[in-house]
Amino acid sequence: MKKAIELTNIVKNYGSQAALKGVSLTVEDGAFCVLLGPSGCGKSTLLRLLAGLEVPSSGHIQLAGTSVVNMMNGVWLPPGKRQLGMVFQSYALWPHKTARENIEWPLRIAGLKSGERTARLNEVSDMLSLGPYLDRYPSALSGGQQQRVAIARAIAPRPKLLLLDEPLSNLDAQLRVEMRSELLRLHRETGATIVHVTHDQMEAMTMATQIVVMNEGYIKQDDDVQKVISNPKTAFVAKFVGNPPANLVTLDGIGDGWTPADMCGLASAIDIGGRAVQVMIRPEHMQLHTEPAPKRRLFRVVEHLPFGTEYLLHLHGTAGRISVLTRQQELVRSGSVLYAQLPDKPDAVFDEKGERIA
Ligand code: ADP
Repeated sequence: MKKAIELTNIVKNYGSQAALKGVSLTVEDGAFCVLLGPSGCGKSTLLRLLAGLEVPSSGHIQLAGTSVVNMMNGVWLPPGKRQLGMVFQSYALWPHKTARENIEWPLRIAGLKSGERTARLNEVSDMLSLGPYLDRYPSALSGGQQQRVAIARAIAPRPKLLLLDEPLSNLDAQLRVEMRSELLRLHRETGATIVHVTHDQMEAMTMATQIVVMNEGYIKQDDDVQKVISNPKTAFVAKFVGNPPANLVTLDGIGDGWTPADMCGLASAIDIGGRAVQVMIRPEHMQLHTEPAPKRRLFRVVEHLPFGTEYLLHLHGTAGRISVLTRQQELVRSGSVLYAQLPDKPDAVFDEKGERIA
């Protein structure tokens, strides 16, 4: 399989602030790669480095097998020579140009003749249902329409690589869901490799063929959607991905906290040798009781929400905070006292640094 992107050991410092701390990543041709992570983790920086809007402090970037940045030997290809399109959260349309002029602009830059420009303009405006709006200025378009114009402008020159920086986050919820399927359709129709930045995991889960979970300037996991959910490699991924998020319980016995002895299947899962491990327990696997017993800890229900056909309870106790999915409607009462017990076996085990050990 051809590689659309190969990043090797990318470091990006802004003064003393390290935005990327040594990132290597491969994206296959035709992938829909989503960079997912909390605000400030380095997603946009990574995208801007690919686009050529930033220069890395060190590292090497290849696009479609061509070296576009190599800090060892001074290679740096400007954005216009990288054959890519980019869409920003802010749309970044020219305010004094109509939708038509905005979309045609990169085609003019590329030197297309008038007839070719019109043919391509019609093609992309059909793809994005922009026909009725082509003669309007951005100020006379809704946010969703402006975003479509920005996408049309980005795909007009048929880029091999499309970079999307939180393009849906300014749209209202319904439009966001519609635009997700539009982007998937465009991905199929254009065959372009897409790198899409988001902090919204639903967006990531529904669109990605490859998810790159980032935190604090590092890639924490690079996998397909199912593996990120079912097989998190770090405690960060276990906590960040999944709806509802998993519980991470530290078995250190501090205060009223749980200990390894509270989980009888743990010893057979791994020899923890006295370490203060963290176990991942999915909310559907935590057990709730109304009576105290050994191994159970007391919790109070602070919030309950319907969750599909079940209920999601948020509980606080001296052993910490947990969330539990339950079908037992009689347990669903704010303020009520319940006793939680760990299941026999953990869903995953992490060491004190958050690295997966079982
Ligand atoms: P994300 O897109 O994941 O929210 P960014 O890539 O925008 O994160 O930022 C990563 C880190 O780099 C943040 O701590 C941010 O404050 C810092 N940063 C980004 N751009 C600049 C800049 N131009 N100058 C200084 N610090 C920056």
